[in-house]
Amino acid sequence: MKVVIVGAGIGGLAAAIELRRHGYRDITILERAEDLGGTWQYNTYPGCACDVPSHLYSYSFAPKLGWSRLCSPSDEILAYLRETAAQFDVEGLIEFGADVAECRYSACRWTVSAADGRTWEADALIIATGQLHQPAIPRFAGSFAGHSFHSARWDHGYDLRGKRVAVIGTGASAVQFVPEIADEVAQLHVFQRTGNWFLPRKNRPYPHWFRRLLERVPVIQHTRRRIWKTYIESLTLMIRHPRTLGRLGALISGSFMRSQLTDAAVRAKAWPDYTFGCKRILFSSHFLPALQRANVELVTDAVAGLVSGGIETTDGRVREVDCIIYGTGFRTTEFMFPMEIVGADGVSLREAWSDGAHAHLGVTIPGFPSLFLVYGPNTNSSGGSIIAFEEAQAGYIRQAIDHLQRASAGAIEVRPEVEAASDRALQARFGGTAWLECDSWYRIESGRIVTNWPGYMREYVSDLRWFDPSEYELLPAPDAQSAAPTLAGA
Ligand code: NAP
Repeated sequence: MKVVIVGAGIGGLAAAIELRRHGYRDITILERAEDLGGTWQYNTYPGCACDVPSHLYSYSFAPKLGWSRLCSPSDEILAYLRETAAQFDVEGLIEFGADVAECRYSACRWTVSAADGRTWEADALIIATGQLHQPAIPRFAGSFAGHSFHSARWDHGYDLRGKRVAVIGTGASAVQFVPEIADEVAQLHVFQRTGNWFLPRKNRPYPHWFRRLLERVPVIQHTRRRIWKTYIESLTLMIRHPRTLGRLGALISGSFMRSQLTDAAVRAKAWPDYTFGCKRILFSSHFLPALQRANVELVTDAVAGLVSGGIETTDGRVREVDCIIYGTGFRTTEFMFPMEIVGADGVSLREAWSDGAHAHLGVTIPGFPSLFLVYGPNTNSSGGSIIAFEEAQAGYIRQAIDHLQRASAGAIEVRPEVEAASDRALQARFGGTAWLECDSWYRIESGRIVTNWPGYMREYVSDLRWFDPSEYELLPAPDAQSAAPTLAGA
């Protein structure tokens, strides 16, 4: 069984480790970058850290006891991923600099082609490129003659000290880097399109004695993992019940924000105007105070366009700046595109997803045999640890490949009616939740939510624990096709 995995981020590594631990040997991981780590390799902005506590934001099979703080900085997470890849012997499987442009299915095989013309053949293909890897830079009218970059491509060669800087966007990335750069720049204009709901996160380094305790008494780590899981699931509970528990969430967040926003004018501008939990709840005890610094301005007038020297807002005012930093997020709903994916009968995934991405349990798509997604459609969590989702997917995919191998079949494909029914049930679960009450990066133009899971983390993990062969059809290997057109699925 030859398996190709696209992406050496947390999800791709989880899949490789799972397959390795179950005896699969012929695995190739194709990674566009020159290092593993995915999002943690690309995002190096000042203050970059996870906002899910590290004792939860880590593989269940590779607990790390000695995290330096509640939510680890990106370099610590990257080091952990490198150590884990080495420990489970998957780092040697990675081919770096392989920018996959096309995956084409024919006669039970996938041919994977890189932009530089190299190709790989696979019996099973796992695409683990995730949802947050393609920076989104809005197309504003006009052009800016100064320096600019996106938060996920931070230009460390550009010295921000003493500069006039504009930050566009106030999402999870911006709230981490704005407080870090606010005291070194001369002037900072933060352009906010929508206010956010905040919860506290101080994230101070653990005292030495506490780190030693965590390292020596592993039960503390396990207990913390359980506690954080419960806390995070309670956020989902609030999002799922916006009229009751969601109001309690808004009350808690609102009182925290009021305590932080002592300047009434900034408070009025920063206040969110949508239901608690509809967009991602942000965790920071440093961002709102930073907005009230003398050298920081929160701008809520919409950006009208760029001019050579800065940014013009719809009120006609121009802020002259030396540098624009785009904290404008990612092209989340495009998933792996512009990669070309061509399945059975020459159908492209772009056509199959023309009304929005969908996949059975976020993993398998009818018409695309032996193709598996990690962090695919409707598997993002509004607060949970994405690692738990990705580990569940890795286990599920491995079981599907086991099934394919045991049956000596050519390929495995989810039954269209199974996928259609699970998608209908999943979309129905968004009814009455906060997710439907505003626009967000979870939705496409039609309003359909394509990125998020509508339930609890534990439900998703439980749904993927056991692969159900009756939901799939086994396709005969090409040389057996004349003898048996379709193998029994169950
Ligand atoms: P984001 O949450 O999508 O935020 C993008 C920001 O840019 C929003 O404030 C958005 O405003 C604004 N924006 C987008 N287009 C704009 C336009 N044309 N004009 C003006 N403003 C515009 O992106 P992100 O902050 O990079 O975070 C993305 C995701 O990455 C997060 O939601 C989270 O899942 C993940 N992340 C996680 C961590 C972590 O610690 N775990 C840290 C960073 C990021 P609107 O709100 O109005 O759309």
